[in-house]
Amino acid sequence: MSQETVSVEFTVGIGDGKFTATATVPAGQTNLTQILPVLQALDSSFIDGVTAQLAQAGRAVSCKAGCGACCRQLVALSIFEAESLAAWIRALPESQQQELAQRFHQALLKLAAAGLIDRIVKEDWLAGTESARQLAFDYFYQRVPCPFLVDESCSIHPIRPLVCREYLVTSPPQHCFDPANLQTDTVHLPLKFSRTLHGIGAEVEHDRRGWIPLVFLFAWMKAGAHPGDAVSGEGPHVLYDFIERLSHASVPSPSTE
Ligand code: SF4
Repeated sequence: MSQETVSVEFTVGIGDGKFTATATVPAGQTNLTQILPVLQALDSSFIDGVTAQLAQAGRAVSCKAGCGACCRQLVALSIFEAESLAAWIRALPESQQQELAQRFHQALLKLAAAGLIDRIVKEDWLAGTESARQLAFDYFYQRVPCPFLVDESCSIHPIRPLVCREYLVTSPPQHCFDPANLQTDTVHLPLKFSRTLHGIGAEVEHDRRGWIPLVFLFAWMKAGAHPGDAVSGEGPHVLYDFIERLSHASVPSPSTE
């Protein structure tokens, strides 16, 4: 029997503007991991609005299918997205699970050979410190493709992590192959759904991160964690709680960052 759903509307103020949307969520009990598809759709809709405004202003986004240059970066995967992807992987046929496991293993081997695993574990990668920045570059220049990258396209595009959706550039694609030249012009998003998920994850885990490097996903799966259960309630309540946090975590414009 399909679960009863309810439509909820909300508005988030962003400086002089606002983001208004309607979403359909389960009317009854659910949790943050289970409503991820709703958050993904809302994030994509918000990003579409921002990119349309940029295009009108003559700053078209240059990211296109078939360009996986940025898919060599360390991806900060929230623990709720990790839980959701873990369930998706476990539902795959055994042969595909093994193939994916092998891809993750190969990526880890390459990072280990470069002496990066310890640094990844210890560094607070999103802290904005010099050492975090250096680690991001060192990781990138190993050019280890994300295990989900196939023929330079994302093989999980509809369910890709929020940080992947939120990483967009308006500069020529060739700059993305060499980010240390600092010529990459990234799009500033005044709302970052990914950061809000990371923040909730940090509270749930009593840890400063609330996310894992995507490349550690198979190792994380072994613990069988279900962080979504810690953020549960009726659908509208779970969504409104997330939106409330999102609105308080709006990202300052680059000039004040
Ligand atoms: S999940 Fe997809 S979009 Fe994100 S880094 Fe991997 S291949 Fe790229």
